[in-house]
Amino acid sequence: MKENEPRKIAFPRYAEYNCAIKYILEQGLGAKCIVPPKLTRRTLELGARYSPDYACTPFKTLLGSMIECLEAGADTLMMVYGLCKLGYYGELEEQILRDLGYEFDFLNLAVYDTGKKRDFLKAAKFVNPRFSIRKLALAAMDAFRMAEYLDEVTGELYQNCGFQVRPGGYEAAYQTFLNALYAADTKAEIEVAHQAVKRAFLEIPIEKPVRPLRVGIVGEFYTAMDEFSNLEVEKKLSGMGVEIHRWMTVTNRMIHYPGEKNLNVKIRDLSQYEMGPTSTANIWAARQYAERGFDGLMHIKSANCTPEIDVMPALQAIAQQNRIPILFLTFDSQSSDTGLMTRLEAFYDMIQMRRKVIQ
Ligand code: SF4
Repeated sequence: MKENEPRKIAFPRYAEYNCAIKYILEQGLGAKCIVPPKLTRRTLELGARYSPDYACTPFKTLLGSMIECLEAGADTLMMVYGLCKLGYYGELEEQILRDLGYEFDFLNLAVYDTGKKRDFLKAAKFVNPRFSIRKLALAAMDAFRMAEYLDEVTGELYQNCGFQVRPGGYEAAYQTFLNALYAADTKAEIEVAHQAVKRAFLEIPIEKPVRPLRVGIVGEFYTAMDEFSNLEVEKKLSGMGVEIHRWMTVTNRMIHYPGEKNLNVKIRDLSQYEMGPTSTANIWAARQYAERGFDGLMHIKSANCTPEIDVMPALQAIAQQNRIPILFLTFDSQSSDTGLMTRLEAFYDMIQMRRKVIQ
């Protein structure tokens, strides 16, 4: 990195939240953000080639994505962390990349998560030693709003796109919305993008039954939200004429999270302790869907994800208590579209037959 030039900073791709992270880095910290390239089979193959075999699939995807960021010209990588083994991933992935011969600066956010304000400021200073706290705070608020809009609009998309009269209308409006968020430099532009997509959605004709089939999705934080990692499962299932609901979003899990203690009240018979970063929330959300009369549940996780393996018996119990089908899906670098479609079609037939029987 040349002196007095902004860092060219990148981070591993994460669903479509990249636009919000880009916004904070550029508008809040004055860096130049290299938006991570879209995830492809190449990304995953690259990551899998250099990862320990037993690592969970997000480890491999994140590593592959970081390699592609460096190839795209990033001189600095930023790595997130989490409450599971993701907390150690930054250290390990940095070492793998250096052993491969890449040169870069590395901002491992796990190192700065001490709960102390001064350590948080150190991380910001790493990106730009002359950053303004006020600018950063304002940009963070806009970025949170961006993530909330993204989750709201994505939710609306998968609740309705399976019922549109002419295929493609929802998807086109959604893509225009995403393009606008990635290009947004101001709060006003974020608001305009949000209003425009809401208007566009309203104009799309749909034919939806009074009681459509509804499926509630729960699952691991990365795999459930990232459509590349779950082989676009929401798109595939909604395309069969199903209304999809997914509680696990950045808005619910990070921005407005009510906390384990309060969620645990309703699931104490199944789980008394938090077993991982999303276990309490997933068990709680599954029970909500079942009690609200949903037609099916789906649990999405990555291979080698210990916390979500622990959740499965509790979900099984919810399914039995409420007589609701549940489909467990595990994704790894070998997962294929064909295998997924077969399971989705069988699941769809099951929830459709069940509806006929209980009607
Ligand atoms: S929650 Fe599971 S899949 Fe996600 S990073 Fe942690 S161990 Fe890996």
